[in-house]
Amino acid sequence: MGKYDVIVVGGGPAGAVAARECARWGLETVLLEKEFLPRPKICAGAISAAAMNLLDVPIPPEIIEARCSVFHGFYGARQITIELEQDFLVLVSRDIFDFWLVSLAQASGAEVKQGEKVIAVDPGAGGVTVRTSGRVYTARVVIGADGVYSTVARAVRKPFFKKDLAFCVCSEIGTVERDVPWQEGVEVYYGLTPVGYRWIFPKRNRVSTGLGVWPSCTKTVRAAFLDFLQEKGLVVDRRIRGGHIPLGGISRPAVNDGIILAGDAAGFADPFTGEGIRYAIVSGRLAAAAAVSLLSRSVPPNRQNLGVYERNCYHSFGADLKAALFISRLFQYFPRVLLGMFFNSREPFAESLQILQGHTDYRQLYRWLLWHTPGLLRRSI
Ligand SMILES: Cc1cc2nc3c(=O)[nH]c(=O)nc-3n(C[C@H](O)[C@H](O)[C@H](O)COP(=O)(O)OP(=O)(O)OC[C@H]3O[C@@H](n4cnc5c(N)ncnc54)[C@H](O)[C@@H]3O)c2cc1C
Repeated sequence: MGKYDVIVVGGGPAGAVAARECARWGLETVLLEKEFLPRPKICAGAISAAAMNLLDVPIPPEIIEARCSVFHGFYGARQITIELEQDFLVLVSRDIFDFWLVSLAQASGAEVKQGEKVIAVDPGAGGVTVRTSGRVYTARVVIGADGVYSTVARAVRKPFFKKDLAFCVCSEIGTVERDVPWQEGVEVYYGLTPVGYRWIFPKRNRVSTGLGVWPSCTKTVRAAFLDFLQEKGLVVDRRIRGGHIPLGGISRPAVNDGIILAGDAAGFADPFTGEGIRYAIVSGRLAAAAAVSLLSRSVPPNRQNLGVYERNCYHSFGADLKAALFISRLFQYFPRVLLGMFFNSREPFAESLQILQGHTDYRQLYRWLLWHTPGLLRRSI
């Protein structure tokens, strides 16, 4: 039986960052990952400037496939283009990016065990017991960073309601020639029912394209995506894959005795854009900080004492995800009015891109919208 201070379950951004921080602070840490790394990951691979700023090590240039400072938004016949002076996101391949983050954790002293699927987690008086397909481990704290279909979360909260999940399909496609080069920037197409968008993001020799909707509506999504590809003259040459994104901004428990959830496992993703990597990184770091703070002072990591993590998450980004959820609901209930407003002026999109750059947040966007709504409505009418 392996005994550790901290067991981190999952080698995505939340788990890799949490394991690195715990190991750096001298805790005996093991990261359990069910796959062998680098492993494929269903994701567009867009990392916002705000997410990059959370990393204290710059992403190596060879991992970055494209940098974007130009946004093209489309809604029916309407189009808006915004060029910023600085990049608001970069594009990566998630298998390589996540592998890099895990190697940083390993270099800081975290042990990494691959091909170890966690099947059960039991909090107990003497610590938390973690069972994998072949072994049993114990730790004083377990950080569950095992994604949207988390096993660790079963020991903390009820499963996500279907209505609180978005569903996305995506694929990477070898590009065809066209007048406007694909590397020009990101293209986002609005006007879907239920609320959602389609995207084309540039990559090194390919494009990442996909479609996401909320609430999760798996039946029609694939057909709508194929229609979109046909319209854009893109031909699928790799598998179309799909996955869920939990809507952030909803209050859910994220801790139990000896257990902390981070990233998608905790439901921390942006309900407006679907961005999850940023919140995985920040919550992974906060989870490690909570574990280090309690264990280094020999304070029992029970549910009550770990409440500090929930409060820190709320202050750091949770209150803002609530504002994002409110804005998303406005789009869900009044799609034409909101899209009409967004496409009648460059300003709302320019404000939204500032959020990806980390210069502003959804609470400010909400205040901005309230203040400007009469003018924007007049223009859109
Ligand atoms: C189609 C799609 C496109 C997306 N595009 C973007 C985007 O462009 N930008 C963005 O910011 N976000 C995007 N997201 C969201 C983003 O992928 C997630 O929010 C992010 O990966 C969450 O990170 P995480 O570390 O919490 O979990 P994950 O990245 O999901 O990592 C979880 C890890 O845990 C492992 N694991 C799972 N179960 C177990 C187990 N039982 N035992 C051991 N290991 C386990 C998994 O193998 C995985 O490595 C997208 C999501 C989808 C579905």
